[in-house]
Formats: sequence, C-alpha cells, structure tokens
Amino acid sequence: MDINSRNIEEIVRQVLEGMKTPTGGSAPKASGNIPSTAKVAMLTSLEKFEIKEYPMPAVGDDDILVKVEGCGVCGTDAHEFKRDPFGLIPVALGHEGTGEIVKMGKNVKKDSAGKPLAVGDKVVTCMIFKDNPDITMYDLNKQNVGGADVYGLLPDDDVHLNGWFSDYILVRGGSTVFNVSDLDLDSRILIEPCAVLIHAVERAKTTGILRFNSRVVVQGCGPIGLICIAVLRTMGIENIVAVDGEAKRLAFAREMGATATVNFKDFKGIEALAGGVQAAFGGYLADFAFQCTGSPVAHSNIYKFIRNGGGLCELGFFINGGDATINPHFDICSKEITTVGSWVYTLRDYATTFDFLKRAKGIGLPIEKLITHKYPLEQINEALATNLKMEGLKIAIVNR
Ligand SMILES: [Zn+2]
Repeated sequence: MDINSRNIEEIVRQVLEGMKTPTGGSAPKASGNIPSTAKVAMLTSLEKFEIKEYPMPAVGDDDILVKVEGCGVCGTDAHEFKRDPFGLIPVALGHEGTGEIVKMGKNVKKDSAGKPLAVGDKVVTCMIFKDNPDITMYDLNKQNVGGADVYGLLPDDDVHLNGWFSDYILVRGGSTVFNVSDLDLDSRILIEPCAVLIHAVERAKTTGILRFNSRVVVQGCGPIGLICIAVLRTMGIENIVAVDGEAKRLAFAREMGATATVNFKDFKGIEALAGGVQAAFGGYLADFAFQCTGSPVAHSNIYKFIRNGGGLCELGFFINGGDATINPHFDICSKEITTVGSWVYTLRDYATTFDFLKRAKGIGLPIEKLITHKYPLEQINEALATNLKMEGLKIAIVNR
C-alpha cells in the first residue's frame, strides 16, 4: 500500500516521455465552474468519517480532475472503517467510484485502453501502476493487480483528494483511467465488483470444463454470487443452480438468471444437501462450481456438488476466513476435480467488464437492482453502518 515517491517520479517521467506531442503545450482544459474547495469524507478514527474541505489542487500536465458522481461501498471499506487493518487512518476511502472529467492536463489524450478522453467524459479508475512489469493491461499470463495501489486505499497526503468518497478526486499521471461515458451511473458504480467475476470466469475457463451446456452451481448469493450468475448467463450458460440460506437472495438469484435454487436450510447434513443440488439439476451433479461465500464449511461442502472430472473456482475467500477441511481422496483425487482460485482482476478484465454490463442489460438482467441503498456523502457513516449490519446488497454513495 505504500507509495514510493521515487517510483512515482519515474512513472511520471516515463508517461511524460510517452506522451510528448508535436503541438506542444497549452493550458489545461476545463469545463464549468470548479469550486475553490473540495469535500472529502475522511476516516479520522475507527467508525468515524468527517467531511473535510480542502483547497482544490492544481491540475498537473498529466492529471485529471474528476467531479465524483458516486461510489460503491466495498467490504474492504467496511473492514477499514471497523478495524483499520491497513493502518491507513486518516484516509480518504472509496475505490468503486465514477465521475465526470472537469479539467485535465495538456498531456492527457487517451484512456488506458486507447480511447480518447475529453472534459465531460465519464470515467472510472482501476489501479495505479508501480514499476512492476508483471502487471500489464492485456497479457492474461501476467499476474493480477493484487499489490498495486488503488485510489481509496492510499495514505493521506497534501493533495487529500485520493478517494472516491468525496465530491472531487485528482487522478494523477501514471494511473489507469477508463472512458465509460456509454454506461449509466448505476452500471459504472458496479464495474469494480463485476470485474471480480469477469476474472473468476476467465480463471474458470482455463480448466477447459466450463462450456455452453455445463451445469453450474453457484454457492452464495451475496453481490458476488449474484453477479457470477449474471456473467454466466451473458456468456450463454443457462443451467445454473444457486445455493444460499436466504429465500430473498435466492429469489433475486432467479431474476439474475439462475434456473433453479436450493436453500441449504431445507436440508440436514451435506449428503442431503448434495442430493438437493443433484435434484435441482434433474438428477445430475454439477460440471462446474463457483464458491462465492467466505465460509469454511461452504468450501468443504462444495466438492460434494461436483461430478467426477468436474471443476471448481474458489473466489469467496477474498480475505482470510480460516482453514477449511476437505478429504483429499474423496474430494479431489479420486474425483479428479480441477480447482482454480480467483482473486481481484487484471486490467484486461476491467475492460471486458464494460461490455458485460451492456450485454447484461441487453438480455434484461436487472443488474442495477444490486444497488439496494443510496446515501449522500454527508451520510457516509450511516452508509457504512448499513453495510456492517449486512443489510441489502450493494450500498452506494451518490452525490446529487
Ligand atoms: Zn471493492
């Protein structure tokens, strides 16, 4: 999480070199009236955000000033709010944000995918490159973005506009930024969590087991499991069984494209539950399973839902949820189950996500219903409290 100032200088130097244009310099382009101060929700102590006002920073030749429209609340924000595990306080949180470019430096011409950028465009940020050549945009064989820096989880500095829980954010040269003007606000707020699932399905595809006619079980119907179902549907997989313990979430899983649902509370013991999953597939076990809960018991159980020679993608243990017990003979070896883990995403997955969101809407999946609560910036403490109470699905801060 540390930003090495020497690295930043090096990155800025490289970016400057890469962006030299024959037309030479001109003043930063700006739109409308930009106020002289910006509001930032600063986490100043555990469970306490304060709305602070800072002078609007200067926009350097490689920088972009964005007027924030909204930002999703992530589990990571909730952990930071409750316990500060990264030791970042005081910190401007919020990494699932989006907004409109109001001013940009003369060297900024294109986004990270090569699309032109202009004042008025809607953007999202992904990661901030450090000098790690193994994190790249388009090479699937390179590592995921774990370990890179991200706006919303940076140490505070004298700019202060480092997180999306704010009304302005300064996106500095060397960051990744994407032009997503063709997506509505709710879709843009959902890009980051959706990218997690695009990556998981890409990982699942590497097993060679996930096919059009596969029977797929998705265990856990929180936002991650629900988006997983939607991603599978948009890629043409139609035989999906959702497993959860809450009837309301299972009903939503059907809306997102699940063909059948299994409430684990209706079954006593794993043998009975596996029988329930098998019955939901019309007498077959799953060809492939996605484990989308952080529960060790759920991880232990899921092998029983999978046929011999099937596959598993574990993506629920985003943080350490403890050890899970499996029987290597029965669960993996004798059944020849191929397992992959999935964590975060690559930059390439980010770009794929924009198309996924359009496809999901195109086939009528109610993706926007994932955002169950919207709060103004001033009520950010309430928003985080709602998240900690595990109420609703996705909670978002939306600036009016
Ligand atoms: Zn997140």
